[in-house]
Amino acid sequence: MLAVSSLDNSNSEIDAISLEELKSSFNGTLIDQTHPEYEDRRRVWNSLIDKRPALIAVCSGQSDVVAAVNFARKHSVLLSIRGGGHNVSGSALCDNGLTIDLSEMRSVRVNPGSNTVHVQGGATLADVDRETQIFGLATTTGNVSETGIAGLTLGGGFGNLRRKYGLSIDNLVSIDIVTADGRVLHACEGENSDLFWAVRGGGGNFGVVTSFEFRLFPLGPEVYFASQFFSIDQASTVCRRWRDFMESASEDISSLGFFWTIPKILAFPKELHGQRVFLYGALHAGTATQGEAELAPLRDIGEPVLDLSSMGPYCSWQSGFDAFFTPGAIYKNIYAYWKSLYLSGITDEHIDELVETAKNLPSDQCLIAIWHLGGAMARVAEESTAFGKRNAPYMLSYDSCWTEPDLSESIIAWTRKQVKQAERYASGGLYLNFPGVDENTEEQVRAAYGKNFDRLADVKRKYDPANLYRVNQNIRPQM
Ligand SMILES: Cc1cc2nc3c(=O)[nH]c(=O)nc-3n(C[C@H](O)[C@H](O)[C@H](O)COP(=O)(O)OP(=O)(O)OC[C@H]3O[C@@H](n4cnc5c(N)ncnc54)[C@H](O)[C@@H]3O)c2cc1C
Repeated sequence: MLAVSSLDNSNSEIDAISLEELKSSFNGTLIDQTHPEYEDRRRVWNSLIDKRPALIAVCSGQSDVVAAVNFARKHSVLLSIRGGGHNVSGSALCDNGLTIDLSEMRSVRVNPGSNTVHVQGGATLADVDRETQIFGLATTTGNVSETGIAGLTLGGGFGNLRRKYGLSIDNLVSIDIVTADGRVLHACEGENSDLFWAVRGGGGNFGVVTSFEFRLFPLGPEVYFASQFFSIDQASTVCRRWRDFMESASEDISSLGFFWTIPKILAFPKELHGQRVFLYGALHAGTATQGEAELAPLRDIGEPVLDLSSMGPYCSWQSGFDAFFTPGAIYKNIYAYWKSLYLSGITDEHIDELVETAKNLPSDQCLIAIWHLGGAMARVAEESTAFGKRNAPYMLSYDSCWTEPDLSESIIAWTRKQVKQAERYASGGLYLNFPGVDENTEEQVRAAYGKNFDRLADVKRKYDPANLYRVNQNIRPQM
């Protein structure tokens, strides 16, 4: 017998015969709460999340996914999908339900003849970048290489190539997906095009994506990346200059500005440990020599306390910030609450406010990120993919992290307050891949999708009328 949560919120029990049926059709590993791997398998990136699924189905291939989906539907069991396990909200897991875990499905196959790549649904960004770079090719992924390609892409996908090549979804050619009725569908512009439209931004609402096909572009292996750190006293001036540079920069350059605290680790000079800083990272998506020339004026915006700019392998830059975000690398546990909002611009007044806030960050791991947007990602018409808001010039993201669980309540409250205060500069909507924790409300989801929301709810009704895929930023089926 297995005690589970049902889709109607009641508790129920699955009998031994039904469990045997699942086991006999499953090739991967089924992990219940007595299994020795259970504690490891239920851990996700954010240590704040403490959910206990009744069963974790570690799939070895597409047929396992079909078996698990059919089991969940037949027995009306609450279901969640785990890709890379990085969503701060912890939506990879569900209490007392069935978690479909794709972390063993990570193969990446490059098709150099057509400049495309097929990626399984449990791959990380590192898997994709590593395999594509052998061929001097790349697609838009994200900035921390252990993140799952699935959750990142289905939510949009903001990476270091966004201004030149768009969001991850803008380079998606096709997917294979297991829908709620257990069918395996292929979706692309010419086939199941409504589903293909919906998954490009609609998250895990429409099924388990077992394979993604992405378009690739020539890049690297050597590129130029600029990154300088400035003392917080210079931050007001330097942040304005960074903004001004980026507003007239070529679309080859994608950049982020951060307010942060330099960690007390050997990788940084001792005299900088614990210093509050403004820093930027900027990748040039052309040749390394072009990049060096085009980024030279940015490297002149102030007197950095540290300059990490150089030519180097694209994969190294893509994983350059990993250590700060990998539990066990510097910090044993990382507790996190991340929330974003789009800005209609970034004024001098707002910069000054951010600098004051940055002087008083509630932990040394808290980060405020200013994402400069625009370029290719903004040129795609808003209704041509489900992804909501594309044309804001900036996104502000409060990436609050801490290492002591006692701080959770106060830092979450602090972050919510900051986000509220920043709303007066906002253009509306938020990036659902930075959704906060326990904030899966219809209001938030509607705000993110804007005018695409009703069409999404329609597609949801067609492919998942019973809302089997609900542990996510949920789009309820249109009735
Ligand atoms: C350290 C860190 C750095 C980040 N950097 C970036 C960045 O640079 N750019 C950016 O855009 N985002 C970034 N993010 C946010 C990230 O895109 C989201 O957290 C995303 O959801 C992570 O995907 P995942 O597969 O790892 O997550 P999971 O937690 O495994 O999944 C999140 C949700 O995605 C859905 N899902 C996952 N896999 C599948 C699948 N195969 N089929 C269907 N649905 C699925 C499910 O609904 C699931 O609940 C970052 C997050 C972290 C923690």
